[in-house]
Amino acid sequence: MYDEEPREQGKHDRRFEGLGISTGIAIGPAHVIERGSVDVPEYSVPAADVPAELARFETAVELSAKQLRKLRAKASALPGAAAEELSYLLDAHLHMLKGSRLVRGVSTRIRNTRINAEAAVQAELMELAQAFAAVSDRYLASRIEDVREVGTRIVRNLTKAPYQAFSALPPGAIIVAEEITPADTALMDPARIGGFASALGGAEGHTAIMARSLGLPAVLGVPGLIAEIRSGDLVVIDGTRGVVVLNPSPETVGRYERRREALHRRQRQLDRLRSISAMTRDGVRITLQCNMELPTELTLANAVGAEGVGLLRSEFLYMNRDEPPGEDEQYATLRRIVEGMGGRPVTVRTLDVGSDKLAYSLGEHIAGSVNPALGLRAIRLSLKVKPLLEAQLGAMLRAGAHGPIRILLPMITTVGEVRAVREIIQKVARRLARSHVPIADPLPPLGVMIETPGAALAADALATEVDFFSLGTNDLTMYTLAIDRGDEQVAHLYDPLHPAVLRLMQFASAAARGARIPINLCGEMAGNPRFTALLLGLGLRELSMAAPSLPRVKQRILSLDLAESERRVAQIMRQSDPGVIAALIDDFNALD
Ligand code: PEP
Ligand code: MG
Repeated sequence: MYDEEPREQGKHDRRFEGLGISTGIAIGPAHVIERGSVDVPEYSVPAADVPAELARFETAVELSAKQLRKLRAKASALPGAAAEELSYLLDAHLHMLKGSRLVRGVSTRIRNTRINAEAAVQAELMELAQAFAAVSDRYLASRIEDVREVGTRIVRNLTKAPYQAFSALPPGAIIVAEEITPADTALMDPARIGGFASALGGAEGHTAIMARSLGLPAVLGVPGLIAEIRSGDLVVIDGTRGVVVLNPSPETVGRYERRREALHRRQRQLDRLRSISAMTRDGVRITLQCNMELPTELTLANAVGAEGVGLLRSEFLYMNRDEPPGEDEQYATLRRIVEGMGGRPVTVRTLDVGSDKLAYSLGEHIAGSVNPALGLRAIRLSLKVKPLLEAQLGAMLRAGAHGPIRILLPMITTVGEVRAVREIIQKVARRLARSHVPIADPLPPLGVMIETPGAALAADALATEVDFFSLGTNDLTMYTLAIDRGDEQVAHLYDPLHPAVLRLMQFASAAARGARIPINLCGEMAGNPRFTALLLGLGLRELSMAAPSLPRVKQRILSLDLAESERRVAQIMRQSDPGVIAALIDDFNALD
């Protein structure tokens, strides 16, 4: 179907390999992001705008002080010496924001030379560095680092989102960086950005998940690229095969353009499946829903004929902003999604930040975890900072007045957590009823993610407490095998086909059936047609995935015989070697 595997040759075709985590081909100019430094624009400010520029600077100073005060409050909770040392340092930083030479100097520069605040901070820092360098006392001279740190904080607050510049890039630009976070990905508009590549990141991390949801071709974990590439270089991203080609020759560009066209043709064929039901050859109906990371995916979900939203990751609401959103704002966004799905159910998951999903607006709560994947993540944070959870649940109950909603809890490990949330739902419902605010009636079904080995093994107990299950195979694989899903160095060991993972999935699926509650699968396995026969054979009848994957999975279901799949899965579950399991799946898939 495609051209031969491209063999780039000659000095122009520099080939780099990494993890192809989101299919598709992108060809465009590179935009390289240097981490650590903040790009500081420099421009002159008209005399009339000087007061506004001064006010902008003061706001950034105030925000910096607020951040430092929050950090200091956190530091005081640290054990003994650490608390003292850190508080002392943060106090010194705070002091520098109060009419210090740095702050006074910047204001004077804005007033006298009429340059923008960011540039004034940089210029002032340079002058201070020279003055410090002239001091003979080494201890005092080294204090310039503190001044620089404070200055950089102010500049970051002035420029706000570090990657705001995404909107000013040439169309089709390819972002290249050491690391691209889920919050950065949320700022990428697929209509403008061609794709991205980074040195860090694993195939099942949230950056990868967002790339697939947005349909952005991407290659992660590419060693060496960042040292060779410059902004403006032409680059090819082959997200299907995990290849990046730097400065491709015209022949290479031509070859990739032909492959891109072939992929588009295939996509157009799949688009025709939109209104066909997903039914196996032996007549079993499978429900296909989509996962959603951003409200902008609504159009795509409808375009592929998703039967609902199986997982709405609410984290997007908290990213790229200074303060978390309140109940009203969340309600307005959820209502738009619920109405946009036109009566099909929307499963909204409560906040799942922590681990690799960080949100600046929640930094004060989640910063500093010794092991973030095992720390104050997801439901643990929600139950600790109750106002956050109450605002979320209030928004969900209110949005539920406009269409079917289900509430999903992430990272549950015990029935106690479920009971605690049920109580809070009742309390929030009473509060809203007292104010005569319309809410879902009856209250929405409450379900849990089965994504830790503990939850999977206690699935029979959890099933008696909840209305539905959602199998999160991304985390289930990570926690069962102790392999970080976002770490490219161990990506080759991350294997959802490990018998331990499959047994946990089978146990949870049987527990749901036994308790007669629905179970869906919303991990990345759901969107990979290679696993469809396996999942159906394990008893799953509802799958939720990134919208662009849905047509491919539907096509696979149409070609499958469920009874045959079940026989193959029975054979698979007797195996102990993941390699043999993979071969049994691939042989089965090749039969059709
Ligand atoms: C999962 O863990 O499988 C899952 C769907 O949740 P997330 O990827 O958001 O952690
Ligand atoms: Mg998860």
